[in-house]
Amino acid sequence: MIAEIITIGDELLIGQVIDTNSAFIAKKLNKIGVSIHQITSIQDDKSHILKALEEAEQRVDIIILTGGLGPTKDDITKKTIAEYFDDSLVLNADVLENIEQIWNQNVGSKLLQVNKDQALVPSKSQALMNSLGTAPGMWMEKEEKVFISLPGVPYEMEALIVDEVVPKLKRKYNCPYILHKTLLVYNIGESALAERIESWEDNLPSQIKLAYLPSLGLMRLRLSTKGYDAKILNQEVQEQIDKVIPLIENEFAGIEDEEGSVEIIIAKQLTKTGQTLAIAESCTGGAVAERFTVNPGASAYFKGGLVTYSTQSKINVLKVSEETINQYSVVSAQVAEAMAQNAQQLFQSDYAVATTGNAGPEKGDSDADVGTVFVAVATKEAVYSQEFNFGNLRIKVINRGVNKALEMLLK
Ligand code: ATP
Ligand code: MG
Repeated sequence: MIAEIITIGDELLIGQVIDTNSAFIAKKLNKIGVSIHQITSIQDDKSHILKALEEAEQRVDIIILTGGLGPTKDDITKKTIAEYFDDSLVLNADVLENIEQIWNQNVGSKLLQVNKDQALVPSKSQALMNSLGTAPGMWMEKEEKVFISLPGVPYEMEALIVDEVVPKLKRKYNCPYILHKTLLVYNIGESALAERIESWEDNLPSQIKLAYLPSLGLMRLRLSTKGYDAKILNQEVQEQIDKVIPLIENEFAGIEDEEGSVEIIIAKQLTKTGQTLAIAESCTGGAVAERFTVNPGASAYFKGGLVTYSTQSKINVLKVSEETINQYSVVSAQVAEAMAQNAQQLFQSDYAVATTGNAGPEKGDSDADVGTVFVAVATKEAVYSQEFNFGNLRIKVINRGVNKALEMLLK
């Protein structure tokens, strides 16, 4: 099965909002064997929407649209779809009930006419109930093609994809199960890794595909396969993982979740053992903490973090001694280690990680070269740190600093 995604919204085309909907949808559809052949972003403009639908219909089996289902005049997707199908809008009582319920829970005042109108859907469509917002999704079929229109708000769209669209597509197309398992590998470049595992790779069964995915200081080695029996697929892939791990023993850091990543592996380990984490950040500005707290369940292990960006706040808030800073510089192993140790004590956690560095473009509170980052990890008993230089591009220095902090915690 092949699909296309069309994201609709003026905001996408002026760079105000980044299209993250497509990535989410592509990931979920890929897992059930639907490959995405094209992703298009277009304006909230009738003629553009009609043209995009017409063209996509020529190319693929499944067309997914997001955006433009809101109650305001600029949201024209629904009307345009009705026109495309030569259809009219009719009131759907179930959708209206759902809208009333959401309205009462979240707003409380009298339901506005524009929101009642959101219960109007093309007569030929099946409404997809949106439990998080007032705009329903819509599922339309035309000959063998499926058209799915979803709200633009990411969390509403995501819930509809997971709860409605994926199960419906699976039923309709008897979709196979797709399995991805990703090994996280550190401290080795792509070519060196390829050479190291060459003979294993050459002997991979043909149904298992391998991909190298390098990203800022971390290599992902993804094994993928598809079939109808999830258990067999798991076994086949696991066998190969068991064979390759001994070849990369020192560089192998863990297996990424189907959904998650390094921080999820750490979160799972901590939750399982009942241990806790604290964070003290300088140059990464809270980004390490954010990687954890963005995932549900963080309160089980994450005690808290401090962003002590200025030298003074490292002294006053994090109680790093002024002598240490004066003696070694604020960007130093000693300061990173003190930050981690003090965070561990302040938050009474089992682990603490700290970052201090100079992300550039100019030298800041220290003489350290631009790109220098120290990361330290402390436990109740010990502390260690490492020095890095991540070059002179600020965003890269920050992101690599975050990745290193996660990597050092994992190890
Ligand atoms: P609403 O009921 O909120 O009006 P809608 O279907 O009309 O829903 P839009 O108005 O197009 O959706 O978008 C709502 C918000 O969702 C946008 O302001 C934007 O922040 C976000 N959004 C829309 N499309 C995308 C996308 N492709 N990727 C990421 N975010 C998006
Ligand atoms: Mg819009």
